[in-house]
Amino acid sequence: MDRLTDADFALQDFAALESNVRSYSRSFPAIFSRARGSIMMTDDGRKIIDFFSGAGALNYGHNNHQLRSAITKYLGSDAVVHGLDMATPARLAFMETFNSTILRDRELHYRFQFPGPTGASAIEAALKLSRKVTGRQNVISFTRGYHGLSVGANAATGNRFYRAAGGVPLFGATFFPYDGYLGPTIDTADYLQRMLTDESSGVDLPAAILVETVQGEGGINVARKDWLQAIQRIARDVGALFIVDDIQMGCGRTGEFFSFEFAALSPDIIALSKSLSGYGLPLSLLLVKEEFDAWKPGEHTGTFRSNNLALVSATAALDIFWSSGILSQEVRRTGELMRRRLEAIASKYGNRFAVRGRGMAYGFDCHKPEIAEATTRRSFKKGLMVERCGPNDQVVKFLPALTIDREILDEGLLIFEDSLAETLNQTKCERLEDANNDR
Ligand SMILES: *Cc1c(COP(=O)(O)O)cnc(C)c1O
Repeated sequence: MDRLTDADFALQDFAALESNVRSYSRSFPAIFSRARGSIMMTDDGRKIIDFFSGAGALNYGHNNHQLRSAITKYLGSDAVVHGLDMATPARLAFMETFNSTILRDRELHYRFQFPGPTGASAIEAALKLSRKVTGRQNVISFTRGYHGLSVGANAATGNRFYRAAGGVPLFGATFFPYDGYLGPTIDTADYLQRMLTDESSGVDLPAAILVETVQGEGGINVARKDWLQAIQRIARDVGALFIVDDIQMGCGRTGEFFSFEFAALSPDIIALSKSLSGYGLPLSLLLVKEEFDAWKPGEHTGTFRSNNLALVSATAALDIFWSSGILSQEVRRTGELMRRRLEAIASKYGNRFAVRGRGMAYGFDCHKPEIAEATTRRSFKKGLMVERCGPNDQVVKFLPALTIDREILDEGLLIFEDSLAETLNQTKCERLEDANNDR
């Protein structure tokens, strides 16, 4: 075993003080003290390249200084930070800026609902509203979908590990196969259509169909345009609300601001969170079509909705990154580079690995969880933070900041490439040793 460092000793304090439930401090065992852009610095002076971006909450990198100055200016002026959902200039500025920079050009019309600050609370509110509008209870969600871990959102989440931790029966959701789940020749939208139009299929008519255009936690599974359009059509045909969970893939991750723009969808409800504030401050948002805004005043509430500080940085992020199409072009170009590099790495090993993704969200499917785990652990030791996803954590997930420098991106990809090669080499040696011992 390696010699224990000061950081190892400090991490033992975390293990003693904090609940067992902590997770990322296990995957990334270091004390992080500062961060800027795509680099995190550890307490003992190591430089870590960040391909994780706070699970997609830091699309514009850590501590962007333009955003920081908007925040510090606001704080320095004694403007209202917490005001529940009272009217403040910051709140109005956010909605007006969102309308003028995002919605207007796309000819989209929505009302803003600010749920609690997490993604799960946005999904919870979206499902509640759909049920209220339609008077139905069932919701259709998809295999390997991830929508958060509060009870209602957990019910629509596929992963058995999370479902089992729920502790109560999770009901109100029916799972259907996502695009490609049954292989390339079966169109799972046809199957959904059949099951929802057959009066005797056993599936209750849904209040909503809830979908991610790219499944982030589920393994970077990418839905095709035709499939997404078919799902939207089916929702309309059966009188269900069509909800896009854009919590991880929105805010530019796939290139355009919303991940569904390439398919020209018109969701009835859109959920945003993670990168919405741009600075990692907690903020989430539902965009609701006016005809479905059936809430009575105060019927769905919460203390921490739309914190003004988060709204200030969200507004600044829209101004800085979305008042022109430059970031979108950049994401497409950088994403293409990522695809080519990852495919080149995969091609060195025949058909053993698969590369999937869109925009700047990529998955490198190792098929074997132990390969993915050893590779990401080794990567971290070499200075790259990269996370895993998929039903068995067998997919290495690349979510660098959309604003990452090319050089840092290359450096990170090289670390991944070396770590994978070393992992495969080591498992080969171990297998040879086992074979020799058996003989
Ligand atoms: C992260 C995530 C959520 C849940 O967000 P939390 O803030 O963790 O509650 C929901 N849906 C998707 C697609 C996500 O990636």
